[in-house]
Amino acid sequence: MELKITKATTLKNKPDESKLGFGKFFTDHMLEVSYTREKGWYNAEIKPFGNLSIHPASTVLHYGSEIFEGLKAYRRKDGKVQLFRPIENARRLNTSAERLGLPQIDENECVELIKKLVEIDIDWVPHEEGTSLYIRPFMFGNDETLGVHSIHAAKLVVILSPVGAYYAEGLNPVKICIETADVRAVRGGTGYAKCGGNYAASVRAGEKAEKKGYSQVLWLDGVERKYIEEVGAMNVMFKINGEVVTPMLSGSILPGITRKSSLELMRDWGMKVTERQISIDELITAVKSGTLEEAWGTGTAAVVSPIGYLFIDGVEYKINDNKIGPVTQKLYDNLTSIQWGKIKDEKGWTVEV
Ligand SMILES: *Cc1c(COP(=O)(O)O)cnc(C)c1O
Repeated sequence: MELKITKATTLKNKPDESKLGFGKFFTDHMLEVSYTREKGWYNAEIKPFGNLSIHPASTVLHYGSEIFEGLKAYRRKDGKVQLFRPIENARRLNTSAERLGLPQIDENECVELIKKLVEIDIDWVPHEEGTSLYIRPFMFGNDETLGVHSIHAAKLVVILSPVGAYYAEGLNPVKICIETADVRAVRGGTGYAKCGGNYAASVRAGEKAEKKGYSQVLWLDGVERKYIEEVGAMNVMFKINGEVVTPMLSGSILPGITRKSSLELMRDWGMKVTERQISIDELITAVKSGTLEEAWGTGTAAVVSPIGYLFIDGVEYKINDNKIGPVTQKLYDNLTSIQWGKIKDEKGWTVEV
């Protein structure tokens, strides 16, 4: 694919690196690629960041044909910039696209386009400890008709946002509320796809939890409301009696890259790690008997997020004295050291821009 580059004539002022937050600031450029059944992917263009123009009948606005990815560019101490396992994001984008009836894209080409965009906005990769440049690729169906048909036109867009240290005040455990009414996904549905629709359906439960003073929702399976699936928009792991357990990828769970990397690291360290069904009853029994040693979420934004409290059926349970546990801490330290290039990348996970 040929890439056209149009540079912005005026550049924005960079925001204060200590006040970045998440997804509030955007860089000078964006990538836009078009697709039609007839032409395939065409018109790859890096251009000044700006609004998209889409037809009011565009598929995405009516039928929710949208998928996205999230990865980061990290600035190393030597000033160079690197990505963490970007090919995994490109692969997952295709998995999501397949589920939503959106077109496939060449995975290597997708990574190359992302690298090129980051290279052009490289000065936007922040320098302060814990900061990074968040990369948000997204794809949507863009047919200009209200008929419900298979998708013939689509766009892939990539935008970049400098983001702050997730844990400005250290790795503090979060309070989680178990959601027993709404479900996020069901087997056979779109749970394993990273699509906007899954998020749209989860907003209500998140709001309810927040009103009660909890920062995230623990999702249960959609059929029996019995098995644990994810926590907020993160995968979830528990250490019970010396063994790390995490819900297996059954179709309703998002296959997180942080999840995959964490499992690989813990197996390298000789830990017992099992992917299986975990019922809420098993978890509560473990909390009550004191065998639940640690609980944490995993995801690109926070890396790991320790869970300090679990709320279910009117009862609040405290985990590991509301402190970050040793495995959670070790995962955080190792993953962030690889991502920011503080230790040698023995796994070959990082890609220099
Ligand atoms: C993106 C996402 C995750 C985490 O995936 P990572 O690849 O580790 O960032 C987990 N759950 C949901 C629902 C997600 O959308």
